Amino acid sequence: MKLKPVLIVGAGLAGLACALELHNKGIEFVIHEASDGPGGRVRTDFVNGFQLDRGFQVYLTAYPEGRRVLNYEALNFGRFSPGAMVRLSGRFHRVMDPWREPFLALSQILNPVGSMKDKLLVARLRAVSLAGTPDDLLQKPETTSMKALQGYGFSQNMIERFFRPFFGGIMLDSQLQVSSRMLEYVFRMMAEGDTVLPALGMGAIPLQLASKLPEGSIRYGSRVVRVRANQVMLASGEELDAAAVVVATDGPEAVRLLPDLAPVAARKVMTLYFSIQGPAPILDPIILLNGNLEWPIQNTCLPSVVCPTYAPAGKHLMSVTVLGDPPQQDHVVETAVRGQLARWLDRDVSGWRLLRIYRIPNAHPVSKPETIEEKPPKLDNGVFVCGDHRFMASIQAALVNGRHAAEAVAAHVA
Ligand SMILES: Cc1cc2nc3c(=O)[nH]c(=O)nc-3n(C[C@H](O)[C@H](O)[C@H](O)COP(=O)(O)OP(=O)(O)OC[C@H]3O[C@@H](n4cnc5c(N)ncnc54)[C@H](O)[C@@H]3O)c2cc1C
Repeated sequence: MKLKPVLIVGAGLAGLACALELHNKGIEFVIHEASDGPGGRVRTDFVNGFQLDRGFQVYLTAYPEGRRVLNYEALNFGRFSPGAMVRLSGRFHRVMDPWREPFLALSQILNPVGSMKDKLLVARLRAVSLAGTPDDLLQKPETTSMKALQGYGFSQNMIERFFRPFFGGIMLDSQLQVSSRMLEYVFRMMAEGDTVLPALGMGAIPLQLASKLPEGSIRYGSRVVRVRANQVMLASGEELDAAAVVVATDGPEAVRLLPDLAPVAARKVMTLYFSIQGPAPILDPIILLNGNLEWPIQNTCLPSVVCPTYAPAGKHLMSVTVLGDPPQQDHVVETAVRGQLARWLDRDVSGWRLLRIYRIPNAHPVSKPETIEEKPPKLDNGVFVCGDHRFMASIQAALVNGRHAAEAVAAHVA
């Protein structure tokens, strides 16, 4: 009798990592993916020669699980300059490389981003973040990042003008309520590696993982509407028996399928992409941050300066991130963004063509209280579950949590 396969619901990074580990262990599986491709929240649209990631995001080369499962050379990364340009009081201030060169980073200070004491404290945060293994950082006592930064003794200026825009931007959390474990973890990743984009877009990451799986093992357009320990039901009404079921969807969908799970709230974000004809308005592959909290732009950059493949010849791609899900209509947000860009870059941007706006309602999971702890993959009802909402919002967490689910499934079906 043929053994039933393990059924995985969702081909995001967690589902793909789970599948890859099962495959490596010789366990048969099938992924049912509701959409038309792999990657979940990490996908790239190709529009008239531009590469538009579905919401601006970056990859950190120091992610330990990424180093394990991805072929970096094939992804052909373009690198951001370390640090950022922070917009304050009508001009940009460069914060060089606080994770690797804390003294150099803030030495242009006393630019108005931080004080001499802040400079020493960045060095301390760096030393703390680099102590032990990355996993050790995820076991430490936790509080909110805001409280942790205050606890270190950073000045309000430094918090407001650097950490809030930079780290708040990465975590889509301008209130800095995300766990202090994440603050130290991300700081370490920045210290140990580069911030990059793959030449063929962020979507190249899941595509590379999917290419390592057997042909036909992912069924696209296959939405699962009900799960049990050994069975799933598809939207078509078809019922499929399984050796085990792994729910690898985003948090809100996992809660719909598994109502016993604690609710997962979500952080929202909006990305606007503009096409620019001619030379790049900023030649450095660097992220520009808003240090003033003046709506709407949180950060902006030119992915095509990081990787020329992001735009067709003779053009550039500008990405603008707006936190939250503003109630204003798209054209109102676009007008406000254009106005701010024109002031920031001191140029007429009316000729820039809006390519696309992405509103992403479920960008990052938010656990309440904000804790970071990897939750066990097997639930009381016998169903397995994985994804960033079971650990922390990041590509690293989705990959590692997917592998851990596969290890638990392997022990179960052995
Ligand atoms: C705009 C944005 C910016 C980000 N920035 C960064 C960053 O810079 N660095 C970083 O490390 N991380 C970043 N993240 C977070 C990171 O992308 C996610 O944490 C990670 O991709 C989550 O992967 P996942 O597999 O857990 O979930 P998902 O990617 O959500 O995958 C779930 C999959 O399940 C499928 N699915 C859902 N319901 C069903 C169903 N009923 N049946 C079948 N299939 C179903 C979905 O279609 C999807 O493919 C960002 C995310 C966003 C959206």
